[in-house]
Amino acid sequence: MTALVLFGLAIGFAPDADMVPALIDSDWAFLQAVSEHRASLLHTPPFALVAAVATLLLRTRERWLWGTVAGAAVLVHLALDSITIGPGVMWLYPYSEAFYGLNLANTRYGRDWGDQWLVRYLTHPLFLSEMALLAVAAFFARRSHQGPLRRSNHKAV
Ligand SMILES: [Zn+2]
Repeated sequence: MTALVLFGLAIGFAPDADMVPALIDSDWAFLQAVSEHRASLLHTPPFALVAAVATLLLRTRERWLWGTVAGAAVLVHLALDSITIGPGVMWLYPYSEAFYGLNLANTRYGRDWGDQWLVRYLTHPLFLSEMALLAVAAFFARRSHQGPLRRSNHKAV
């Protein structure tokens, strides 16, 4: 189960691998790269399908579960990118290259963050709520990994 959770986390972050070529293309201008990196195929629903199918090809015992996790992890990443910050995601790719998103961070909290961009991003309620979700998931993953028998053994010690 821990391996599946770690796999889901890794695949969930995979779309942001397109930050590397965006940073190189923008001559390491971080803000420019952040706003432009979602124009790659990694931030599209077809990539979620590719991730799911590629995972199905692996010879794992529960490959349907792993494939579903892979596809869902990418789709959740795209959904969060659409809701939180930036231009959105090309949800209708390859039929359209239009970006769809709410951009809550900028529309609700202002867009002129300048040099304070990173600090404000890391202390923003949207980012903090993502970290809280991650902490809750880690708590439940650890709890399910321990199992009821192990938990009762801890109490006895
Ligand atoms: Zn992203």
